[in-house]
Formats: sequence, C-alpha cells, structure tokens
Amino acid sequence: MSWNFEHTYSELPEIFFREQKPEVAPAPKMVIFNEELAADLGLNSDELKNSPEIFAGTVLPHGAKPLSQAYAGYQFGHFAMLGDGRAVLLGEHITPDGRRFDIQLKGSGRTPFSRNGDGYASLLPMLREYIISEAMHALGIPTTRSLAVVLTRTDVFREKILQGAVLTRVASSHIRVGTFDYASAFGTRTDLQALADYSIWRHFPEIQDTENKYSLFLKKVAERQAALVAKWQLVGFVHGVMNTDNMSICGETIDYGPCAFMDTYDPDTVFSSIDTEGRYAYKNQPKIGAWNLSRLAEALLPIASTGDAIKHYHECYKKNWLNGMRAKMETPIEETLSKMEQDKSDYTNSFSHLKQNPKVIPRNHKVEEALAAAGQGDFSVMHKLLAALKNPYIHSEEYSHPPTATCCNYKTFCGT
Ligand code: AMP
Ligand code: MG
Repeated sequence: MSWNFEHTYSELPEIFFREQKPEVAPAPKMVIFNEELAADLGLNSDELKNSPEIFAGTVLPHGAKPLSQAYAGYQFGHFAMLGDGRAVLLGEHITPDGRRFDIQLKGSGRTPFSRNGDGYASLLPMLREYIISEAMHALGIPTTRSLAVVLTRTDVFREKILQGAVLTRVASSHIRVGTFDYASAFGTRTDLQALADYSIWRHFPEIQDTENKYSLFLKKVAERQAALVAKWQLVGFVHGVMNTDNMSICGETIDYGPCAFMDTYDPDTVFSSIDTEGRYAYKNQPKIGAWNLSRLAEALLPIASTGDAIKHYHECYKKNWLNGMRAKMETPIEETLSKMEQDKSDYTNSFSHLKQNPKVIPRNHKVEEALAAAGQGDFSVMHKLLAALKNPYIHSEEYSHPPTATCCNYKTFCGT
C-alpha cells in the first residue's frame, strides 16, 4: 500500500511518549477517504479506500509503531498535564519525494493520557474536522489534513449515544508549544534540548549549525505563528481554543474542535460555548498568539536567550496582515492585465469578474446542513460541499451567500 514509515519521534527521550496500540474496532466502515491527499502522499488509494480496518486502528499498516505523545498546555491561561488522550501516532510516512508527515489516528481508544476520557471521537465532529481542515488547505492556509474518517461501530456516550469514529490526521508534525511546556515542567535540561534539537531538525534544518540556534528557533516559530494567525484573520477564521497544546510549532492550524468562520463582521465574535470571557475571540487571536509564544520563550529559557522574539512576532504579524488586507482590497494590477492578455479576455467584463478573495468558505449553516444529512446516513450533501470548498475562488450560487437570518447564536463545542 506504499506506506513508508520512519519513527524519529520515538528516538526522543522516553518521557515524550508511551507506546500504545489503538483499540480494536468491531466492524469498521469507511465514511470518507481523501483520494487526492492519498495521491499526494504517494499512497495507493485503490487499496486503501477499501481498508477501513487500517484507518480504525484494527489492523496496523506495515511498519507502523503506534505511540501516544506526552504534552502539557496552558488551557485558558492555566497549566495542565494533557497528552494524546484519544490519539495514536502510527509513524512518520515519508513520501516518494522525501516529505515527512505524521499519520495519526484520532478517536482510537484510551491511552495513558486519557485521564477521565473514553478515548473516543464521534462521527459528526470528525466529519466537521475533515470539512474545515480541507477547506483551510484549499484556501492556502497551513493546516493538518484529513485522510479518512471511518465508523468504528462502537457506541460513544456523550449527552446521548453517538456513533464512534476515527479520523486519520496528517500533519507536518504534532510538536506543540505544549510539548515544550511539558519538557519545561517535567523534563531535564537534556530532555528540553533534545526536543528543541529534534524540532529544529524537523522544521528548521537551515539553522541546525548556527551558534545561537535555540534563539533562532524561537524567532522562526514566531514567524510561522505570525503568518498563520494573519491568515486566519484575513479569512475570518476563529480557532476557538488557542491553548498552547493546540499551537503547532511548525505553524499549521491544528485542533478543529470549536472553530468556525465568521459571517457578519464583528471583532468580538466567539463561537465556543465554553469561552464565556471571549479570551479566544476573533479580535484577540493575534495577541493570544503572542501570549502563547511567551510560554514557549519561558520554556526555552534554560537553553536560549529569548531576546526580541515577541516584538518580532508582532512586527511579522502586522506585515503579514497588512499585506494580506491590501491584497484583499486592491486589484493585483500587473497579474490581472497579463492574464487578461493571455486569455484574450473581454476588456470590460474582465473587471467585473476579479478573483481576489475567497468566494466560498465553509459557512456554518452549510457545514451544519452537511452534518445533519450525514447524521441521517446521507453523505451526498457533504460531498457537494467539499467539492465547492476545493475551489474557494469560484463563486457558487449555493455556497457563496451568507445565511438569510444572521445566526448570532451559532455555538461550537470542545472535546467532542
Ligand atoms: P482538545 O480540547 O481537543 O485540545 O483536548 C484537550 C485534551 O483532552 C487532550 O489531551 C486530548 O487528548 C484530551 N481529550 C479530548 N477528548 C478526549 C476523550 N474523549 N478521551 C480522552 N481524552 C480526550
Ligand atoms: Mg487539542
């Protein structure tokens, strides 16, 4: 099936993970398989799309060595020990052209980090993650991606009985600011240094041989976070739970729990049912990025002089945001004219079809409509939505319009 696993994460000191097999699902069933992503990863879609047992964790693919990662995090400002409570990393898949991706099963049962949780995930939240993460990718925003969602045929007990599901998450890595919080709180200086060296090797190899590499590392992370948060602001994405455990070192959007896109412009927008103070409101995201980076700077203190990283973050954010906003508001003149010339376009009409801004985003009312149908076993609405989201710059009569009644009471939930 062309899996090509390596396991460099498990070469880190043993405090950073526990070996953990996924739970055996009774009768797994494929719900959605991302053929396009599989092709990009060099995987054999024809075989894999008929192998739900692999994506449920029931059968381990060749070369997999499952583990759960340890991490901590500041949740709404308060430190907590966390870790993969419902996920296992099968390994790092190396694509034929040499790119390295974590392949993680989310919802595959209890782990040593589950605390009081059941280790499970349910179908609709996993489909929601699939839809929104793939939409983010199509919008050109760095993100973890979704390779498959399978039903496990296990009941999941929440407020009512739900259908158990596993999502296969593909990420450049799952190293979080919270992984550094963990190393700082529970590890030795050697553990912290090992994690920093590993993160640099994996994401910023160009600074490996520099003298002050740990300070540079922090600066690089600042740049990635600033670029990411600016992109969120530009499309109206509200992450909803920017705890340090949900901030990836490599600058990908991770954790699609309570996130949602803003319809009506309101800087105070909050969707998450538990964010009563608005800590993670749309307008606060840039400064929370800086707050999280300060936690990383603190964690790195034993090995790095943290210098002006936070100032650098603010400058990078401002530059990225301003450039992005200008591009949203201005016509990319040269580019448009040369495309018009190339395409032998009608001079007048061309200006009425300018494509500078996304026209299709995963609007809450459309995502809810797709999930409601999926809950009844009809996946056609979701497939139609996903097809539109793949081409966000093409106007769609069905998906471009805001909801008719402003849905100011749209609520989202964590840990579903
Ligand atoms: P999140 O809100 O998704 O960022 O999750 C925060 C922490 O709760 C992480 O350590 C998760 O692994 C853990 N967690 C969330 N849901 C469950 C669950 N059903 N069982 C066990 N752990 C969970
Ligand atoms: Mg999380």
